[in-house]
Amino acid sequence: MTNHIIVVGAGPAGSSAAMGALRAGAKVTIVDRKTNVGIPVQCGEAIGKTGPGVAEIEIPEESIRAPVRGFRIYSPGQVSVDYATKEPSGFIIDRRVFDKELFARATEAGADSLLGARVLDVTRSNGTIDGAVVRYNGQRQTLKAQIVIGADGVNSQIARLTGLRKAYKPDDIDSCFAYEMANCNLEVTDLMEFLLGSEVSPRGYIWIFPKGNGRANVGIGIGGGIETKTAKEYLDHFLKNHDVAKRQLNDAKVIETRVGALPVCGPNKVNVVNGALLVGDAAGQIHPITGGGMGYAMVCGSIAGRVAAESAQKETVTATNLQQYEKEWRKLYGAEFDQSLRLRELILQTEDATLDKLANIVTGESIVQLTAGKKVKIFMKAMSTGDRKLITLMQELRKLRMV
Ligand SMILES: Cc1cc2nc3c(=O)[nH]c(=O)nc-3n(C[C@H](O)[C@H](O)[C@H](O)COP(=O)(O)OP(=O)(O)OC[C@H]3O[C@@H](n4cnc5c(N)ncnc54)[C@H](O)[C@@H]3O)c2cc1C
Repeated sequence: MTNHIIVVGAGPAGSSAAMGALRAGAKVTIVDRKTNVGIPVQCGEAIGKTGPGVAEIEIPEESIRAPVRGFRIYSPGQVSVDYATKEPSGFIIDRRVFDKELFARATEAGADSLLGARVLDVTRSNGTIDGAVVRYNGQRQTLKAQIVIGADGVNSQIARLTGLRKAYKPDDIDSCFAYEMANCNLEVTDLMEFLLGSEVSPRGYIWIFPKGNGRANVGIGIGGGIETKTAKEYLDHFLKNHDVAKRQLNDAKVIETRVGALPVCGPNKVNVVNGALLVGDAAGQIHPITGGGMGYAMVCGSIAGRVAAESAQKETVTATNLQQYEKEWRKLYGAEFDQSLRLRELILQTEDATLDKLANIVTGESIVQLTAGKKVKIFMKAMSTGDRKLITLMQELRKLRMV
């Protein structure tokens, strides 16, 4: 079928890809195994303004629960570091409304959709993918298209079928567990709180995100494959025992429970094959330290959709032509992901006591710069502490050109 694109997945990546392709004149069908887009919620629900701004997609007003101006990070020994902008730099949203509204917009812009259709396979002609096989209403059905965009999330079937990636290994993902809570008594209602430490959350962090009206999204991500306790057990332990939780969440009540997994190993090396490309979590486009993925999914999705539509129009859907997508998104985020991945490795090797010392010398601004893969001026300050382990950490950061 000429100029027809199938988008598998109606999450932020899929809906953004659909909008990008529609804007460039393609015919689009979005396929999702869910019958209700946006449910269940598997998210901390924090989104910055930057990603949607770059993607030129407005954050749906009706999904916004609370504006946020920055963050408060607690080191393992509870040294806190704040960062706040004057104006809101992002929002805590209701993810079920957000996903559904983006999907609705793509539909209103002209996309067809098939909900409740699970993609089982892809079809090929002369080695080029040219369609998807779905199970819909209990029947197998084949949908033909010039390009298939795999926006099908962390367990992407399209990634496996195209050979672009096997399933993520336990080390590559964070296991997450979260509660939406009511009756919270938050100390800051416009900052996102993060808590680090091997006791609190090994190889990850706990988050407390304000949702307005005394509600919060409270969750944890821990390194996959940690066998001693589950993410839920770590979070429940935190809620009962940690000072920060006791101060703010003592009277809080759970109103929803969420589980999920996110890839923290950086993007796939290759995301295009003849007739198909991957985007969003399926492509590993998620920040290896913060675990934020919605903004990247929207930007990369928009690029993927446009490039797919242009390639389909020219009837040149080879991997070589789809490289344009890789080129464009890597130009925006490639270096940031690479640096963050290296920084993540370093942080994981750093003892709690050294993280406390680091928290004493960094500002919120430098944390923003570091997580964006940029260089910060903390070397001299660290040297002046005379702390051997902190100095070693700085030397490692210097090798990465981050200090
Ligand atoms: C607990 C948790 C907390 C998070 N917190 C944040 C946060 O606060 N901020 C942030 O920016 N990011 C956060 N993330 C990451 C963020 O949720 C993802 O990066 C984002 O959802 C990626 O969007 P996506 O469209 O690529 O994938 P998804 O949102 O996962 O969408 C994939 C879609 O594909 C569909 N699908 C899958 N397989 C098939 C198939 N075979 N056939 C048909 N359809 C299929 C699914 O039903 C789904 O609708 C968090 C993730 C988790 C797990």
